[in-house]
Amino acid sequence: MSDSWKVTGGCFCGAVRYAAEAFLQEAYFCHCRTCQRTSGAPAEIAVLVKPGTLRYTSGKPAFYQTSPFGERGFCATCGSRLVWQHVGGIKPEFTNVSVGSLDDPQSVRPTSHQCVESKLGWYDPSPDLPHLRSEEIPEIVALWDSVKNRG
Ligand SMILES: [Zn+2]
Ligand SMILES: [Zn+2]
Repeated sequence: MSDSWKVTGGCFCGAVRYAAEAFLQEAYFCHCRTCQRTSGAPAEIAVLVKPGTLRYTSGKPAFYQTSPFGERGFCATCGSRLVWQHVGGIKPEFTNVSVGSLDDPQSVRPTSHQCVESKLGWYDPSPDLPHLRSEEIPEIVALWDSVKNRG
């Protein structure tokens, strides 16, 4: 993994604020249907957070579980989407914040497109970055395997 930077961010109304160390140069577009539906946008742009560094400096997000392993944190007052994490924060290496929640989203650099099997045909930002289908992303395959094998 590349370098991490100290960042701050929060929701639109200011009720929830966070500080973290984030891998600003390793962000990725996620084109999955869940990101589309929960963000209301054609794709989410996720910024991975260094494990153990995300802390809330004001308020706390509400969480809604959106898959067997994932839950999404948002401001219960204004609805801004803030964070994705493994349920209960069990695998902190997957924790990421939404690009728009950062105080300085300009410093982010996306490096890939993920889950492009549901990418919208008319939405094609940064077309030169690698495009990966879900089954080509080992981390996502492993997450689904982990819930399948639970019996
Ligand atoms: Zn808010
Ligand atoms: Zn997604």
